[in-house]
Amino acid sequence: MRVLIVNCGSSSIKYQFLDMDTEQVLCKGLAERIGIPGSKIVHKKGDQKAVVEKPMKDHEEALKYVLELVVDEKVGGVKDLKEIDAVGHRVVHGGEKFSGSVLVDGEVMSAIEEYSYLAPLHNPPNIMGIKATMKLLPGVPNVAVFDTAFHSKMPAKAYLYAIPYEYYRKYKIRRYGFHGTSHRYVSRRTAEILGMDYNKSKIITVHLGNGSSIAAIMNGRSIDTSMGFTPLEGLVMGTRSGDLDPSIVTFLMEREGITSEEIYTILNKKSGVLGLTDGFSSDMRDIEERALNGDPVCRLALDIYEYRIAKYIGSYVAAMNGVDAIAFTAGVGENSPVTRKGVCEHYLGYLGICIDDEKNNIKGEERVISTPDSKVKVLVVPTNEELMIARDTKEIIEKGIKQLEY
Ligand code: ADP
Repeated sequence: MRVLIVNCGSSSIKYQFLDMDTEQVLCKGLAERIGIPGSKIVHKKGDQKAVVEKPMKDHEEALKYVLELVVDEKVGGVKDLKEIDAVGHRVVHGGEKFSGSVLVDGEVMSAIEEYSYLAPLHNPPNIMGIKATMKLLPGVPNVAVFDTAFHSKMPAKAYLYAIPYEYYRKYKIRRYGFHGTSHRYVSRRTAEILGMDYNKSKIITVHLGNGSSIAAIMNGRSIDTSMGFTPLEGLVMGTRSGDLDPSIVTFLMEREGITSEEIYTILNKKSGVLGLTDGFSSDMRDIEERALNGDPVCRLALDIYEYRIAKYIGSYVAAMNGVDAIAFTAGVGENSPVTRKGVCEHYLGYLGICIDDEKNNIKGEERVISTPDSKVKVLVVPTNEELMIARDTKEIIEKGIKQLEY
């Protein structure tokens, strides 16, 4: 079975085309600047690369060019569009309705549209992507895989905020959590690598990208996660503040005379390590480099970044009353020995965690980085959300089911 994976952002489409009999990537690419001047697709098949630069007024037009590349004689994965068996879509918000991946039909589309009020920047482009594939690949089934679904079964004590209950009733204000597909992939893989029964395990997954989140996964279920009602809560991120005293919001609005939109921008786009370094950089590579060269501002930003991660790990050990393994993933988690060591060695010694410096000295490889006698295993597990989406898509289509329960 051949599956196309589509991940639509507001002006981008990330895609991968996979042969799911072998789980091999046939080709992949990224369309950027859709709807704005400079539209471009960078497409890859192994070492071969193709670049398409022409105006793309919307997601449908961009996807049309993507499909031309997918069936291209040289850089494509198949000869004919008929050889695409299914399309898997990353959809950010599935509200309280979707606790697993689903086959898209009219009802599912309406629900995704309904949840746009919870993810106004993400669900609308996801919908555009699904509509475009429906039009360009008529008759090919579409599957939606939600970022929120893996967290949807966490207990009420983890998802409810201590604010008047009527706001949960009225607006469904609660913790949803995000990056669910990554946390699910990485935790399953962690159990596999360690030869553990996933359904009898306590795993903490630490996803550190531009956006970062951490999850407590007990017996194969996410029971708590650091992102909340929106992706703003939790860890210190590239440009997002993560946790803060909510009174800071009203204080700043009053003192600075700013609107809700402006404070939203400050907390989402101008905070995190970017804010802590006075606008220097949101990229952890830059922060690390300067911190290691003795710059006190970047050193402090890195300390705050690591300290917050360690505090969350501590709280999730409490939430699960134990932990078997901690897995680092995404850009920073996969590539930064400094951050992994900083988190584990400075703060988690009481758990009997011991990192092997030589094993930790890797980038983007799957590996156990703790010493054999470390009481808790620590791993690097590169995430693969596309593969997870493709596996779900295949399973739904092959089994002929409407919804997959995790
Ligand atoms: P996104 O959330 O956009 O998918 P990624 O998972 O690609 O982000 O992660 C991006 C982050 O990973 C950036 O902060 C980048 O600096 C960081 N990163 C990538 N390589 C390294 C590295 N070698 N050392 C430290 N950080 C790195």
